[in-house]
Amino acid sequence: MENNQQMRKWLDDMNLSHPLVIAGPCSAETEDQVLKIAHDLKDTDVNYYRAGIWKPRTRPGNFEGVGALGLKWLQKVKEETGLKTTTEVANATHVKLALEHDIDMLWIGARSTVSPFIMQEIADALEGTDKIVLVKNPVNPDLSLWLGGIERLHTAGITKLGAIHRGFSTYKKTKYRNIPEWQLAIEFQNKFPDMPLICDPSHIAGKRDLVFDISQTALDLNYDGLMVETHHDPNNAWSDAAQQVTPSNLVHMMRDLKIRKETD
Ligand code: PEP
Ligand code: MN
Repeated sequence: MENNQQMRKWLDDMNLSHPLVIAGPCSAETEDQVLKIAHDLKDTDVNYYRAGIWKPRTRPGNFEGVGALGLKWLQKVKEETGLKTTTEVANATHVKLALEHDIDMLWIGARSTVSPFIMQEIADALEGTDKIVLVKNPVNPDLSLWLGGIERLHTAGITKLGAIHRGFSTYKKTKYRNIPEWQLAIEFQNKFPDMPLICDPSHIAGKRDLVFDISQTALDLNYDGLMVETHHDPNNAWSDAAQQVTPSNLVHMMRDLKIRKETD
């Protein structure tokens, strides 16, 4: 995979005055919830509205997402608020449905990036698309696996690519849900300086109190954007309740973060 300016063209073309901001709930729960949060995020710094509709839960028996029904809710978000939309895809069927419903950006979750078979299936299903595709790091701190997944998409002709750093599983007790291992993300940046890199402070943190500081560290390291789980009633969210912030928290956070420009 060559490294060139073309890689970040999709982001540069957006001509943003701030980092790319992707926000919205961990999971789409109901139509009302999806639309309420989207309306709260309209007219803020948010560029893309996220909501997971197929949820990769580590253990069975938890809420596994509303499924394809949620795609219609995301279409409504776009119609009513003008926000662009993004959701997680984890197999060829998800890709087909998401493309049919004109989701603007797709992301691949940490539990999918670990599997070369899944990555290849997704790459084949996406072949020739001009949608933006973001690849989260795998759950384990393996840079090659992360790059390998991105390479499969690149080889399938997907040019609007980016990476999301969401931290790594660890058996050790730490304050994080997933340890950031910033040095690994820095190695990624050094290898592919032109690949847009987005930080997901929510899944690194696991609790909302840490989201600001993680976001600030990412911006200090010149990341291109943030993906922040945002819910109007976080404590009652159906997944990842402890780490979601409210839309108003997000607005304050974006106001208070120090944004470093490359020319600084
Ligand atoms: C998510 O974004 O809600 C999610 C499941 O993330 P990850 O793949 O990083 O665990
Ligand atoms: Mn989540």
